[in-house]
Amino acid sequence: MSFDRETVMKHTREYEIAWQGLKPGPHTYVYDIDDRFMQEREVDESFSDWDARITLVFDKHESFFMCHFDVDGHVTVPCDRCGDDFKLRLWDEFNLVIKLTGDDDASIEDEDDVVFIPRSETVIDISNWLYEFILLSVPLQHIHPDDEHGKSGCNPAALNLLDKLSEPPEHKENQLWKGLETLKDIKADKQPKQGPKK
Ligand SMILES: [Zn+2]
Repeated sequence: MSFDRETVMKHTREYEIAWQGLKPGPHTYVYDIDDRFMQEREVDESFSDWDARITLVFDKHESFFMCHFDVDGHVTVPCDRCGDDFKLRLWDEFNLVIKLTGDDDASIEDEDDVVFIPRSETVIDISNWLYEFILLSVPLQHIHPDDEHGKSGCNPAALNLLDKLSEPPEHKENQLWKGLETLKDIKADKQPKQGPKK
């Protein structure tokens, strides 16, 4: 079995937008990003089963392109509280303006992220943005969501253990004070010994 050249080219061009051939106005692209796509790049090793769909609306203007990326998907991560793996929802959206250099345009809003590319670059590879936006859509907190009854989705055995470990905080504090007092005693002991040296 052999791949003809066209098939190979098509595959490598999957994330490229040949903007010159596009009519002005919005164009929608849908990308299904799998685990392989993410694992080929730099990702947290404890994360697995990346699965996301990115819908890109690429709005072509004369000297710039307004890009809106909508991320929706999942990734399996270890829970920060109980340690069990669970499916974390990825859900976010991002705006990006691609501005062709050599032109000036006042209609770009300051708050948008702007990147500049030379007008001679007639094909834009967006795979790095897809990767970055998926990473950015990972919530900072990785904790099992509560179930429909408001009960924690965490491993109950791990929760019980955590409860036990955090139980008597006063006791711990007392131990800390005891430790400090011992330290004070040691210092006090040293005091007279240092005295004659002065
Ligand atoms: Zn958990």
